[in-house]
Amino acid sequence: MRVEDNFSVVKERIKQACERSGRSEDEIKVIAVTKYVSAERTQEAIDAGIIHIGENRIEGLLEKQHAINGQAVWHFIGSLQTRKVKDVVAHADYIHSLDRTSLAKEIHKRAVEPVRCFVQVNVSGEESKHGLTPEEVIPFVKELASYDRIIVVGLMTMAPFTEDEQVLRSCFRKLKELQLQVKNLELPYAPCQELSMGMSNDFEIAIEEGSTCIRVGTALVGENS
Ligand SMILES: *Cc1c(COP(=O)(O)O)cnc(C)c1O
Repeated sequence: MRVEDNFSVVKERIKQACERSGRSEDEIKVIAVTKYVSAERTQEAIDAGIIHIGENRIEGLLEKQHAINGQAVWHFIGSLQTRKVKDVVAHADYIHSLDRTSLAKEIHKRAVEPVRCFVQVNVSGEESKHGLTPEEVIPFVKELASYDRIIVVGLMTMAPFTEDEQVLRSCFRKLKELQLQVKNLELPYAPCQELSMGMSNDFEIAIEEGSTCIRVGTALVGENS
């Protein structure tokens, strides 16, 4: 399938999820996750009108950034090792995986301008997943006052690997509640208006529960090319 055709299907599914939940499609950013695919396929996504590109490794992000023609907004969505921060800060527009103080410290040290970050939360508590526990989020965000080159634009989570709609829904709902709690702190460095949640298998549920950034790989660009 051409990316253009996949994008039409995804947009239609977004539209319907928005209708079901009384939301506007303008509220939803679609990040094409290109980690599985080539630079050519990434170019196809740009040509189809996709603006946001997500990569989970800096090597992949740099490869695509050098290869593509056209404007894109770059999202680093993978777990981030401290020693890679310098490159990520220089090349990504958003980091979706801020999950510890040592990382905040390094981002602050390496950044020239404020960096837009999502705080990653492990809502489901699965051991294999990165992120703070829900209880850690508020104290962590308050601690970030010491690092003035970090802007908390929102929260991010990866839902558990399940088909169970109720489990997915309650995970997304919990993240939305936390987002509102952070937003209501009214910290100047933490507007926290965004929710990065929803992937190929669960983005409609995520939208119904308030997502503003869906990260879609398989359904948009495929798994291999
Ligand atoms: C790979 C990945 C995605 C996209 O996954 P699909 O199921 O292919 O849509 C989204 N978010 C993160 C953090 C990923 O690593």
